[in-house]
Amino acid sequence: MVRYFGIFLSNLLLILCLMAPASSAARPQANYTEPQQLPVFELHSGFWINLHHTLYYEARQRKAFLSRDANTSKSTAPKSVLAGKGLTDVEQKAWDDAVAYYMMNYADKDLLFTTELIQLKDQLGDFEDCDELFGRKRKFCDAGLPANLTQVLEAAAPVYRAHLWPEHDQANRRWILQVAPLVREQGVGLSERLADIYQTRWPHEKIRVDVVAYANWAGAYTTVDPLRVTISSLDPRNQGPQALEVLFHEGSHGIAEAVQKAIIRECRQRDKPIPRDLWHALVFYTTGEVIRTVLTSSPSKRLDKSNGTQASGYDTYAFREGLYQRGWRNYLDLLQRFWQPYLDGKANFDDAIARMVSSL
Ligand SMILES: [Zn+2]
Repeated sequence: MVRYFGIFLSNLLLILCLMAPASSAARPQANYTEPQQLPVFELHSGFWINLHHTLYYEARQRKAFLSRDANTSKSTAPKSVLAGKGLTDVEQKAWDDAVAYYMMNYADKDLLFTTELIQLKDQLGDFEDCDELFGRKRKFCDAGLPANLTQVLEAAAPVYRAHLWPEHDQANRRWILQVAPLVREQGVGLSERLADIYQTRWPHEKIRVDVVAYANWAGAYTTVDPLRVTISSLDPRNQGPQALEVLFHEGSHGIAEAVQKAIIRECRQRDKPIPRDLWHALVFYTTGEVIRTVLTSSPSKRLDKSNGTQASGYDTYAFREGLYQRGWRNYLDLLQRFWQPYLDGKANFDDAIARMVSSL
């Protein structure tokens, strides 16, 4: 923590410089952390992709509420994200229509597993510098989306821009400013270390990260081909120095394929069922340990196995959010016994995976 603030202060000047453009909140969708300023990641706060995720979030909330049995549920309807913002009747209707469209078309689909939503998210990210999506004023702003959807988004856009976007954009910028010093100082080293661990190369191109007010249920998700990360700036799980871990955890989704393959191979050889999320527990564990080593000035603290928490220092995401306690305790034991020695340079990759699988 102390070290974190040290880094923070040393970058104060830069932060102040970066804050200057934030005052012009009406300026559309700028990618204000110029790509060359940060290594490894390219962080964006884009208007359309934020509008899209906000509509998806609200549509899910409303749908979940409506699908409850009215007789058994006493809870009240979820508040709109625009409640109390003083919308005119016309604005309210435009917003409600857009939410209804999302309820009808997208609310039942998963942002991470639905090709349609993945492509839509990527396209809306690409058009962040456009203030329209039909390309009426500028040809290159024709996003080529379905006409109905374009209409819905363009009708909701002025409402969102007037009443919520400044707030969301500011939160996104704050999140980026908070994590930027650590990425600048540690990013290259972390990416090399993680690529080494997964026996691959970190992607040559910077990974695009779209910072949004609302992401998915997990607070962040990553899609591949192209590799892109979406992270919520408002999610309490993504704050403080943990923001760095979330970034690198998501980025690792793009390079951890060898782990998945090795686990599957070892299971086949032993005719064992494939533990579907062991690789994900391993990615959580690995990113956490690597980040902890960087963020704590003292040597990494041993885990207090008696109560399953870390004795002191940096709390890794999986510990803090109770992932091991909620069903991954067995995995944690395997990771500590067989994967940690590999991280410490005392075992090789294949042996570590083989030992984990044989102990399942
Ligand atoms: Zn993950």
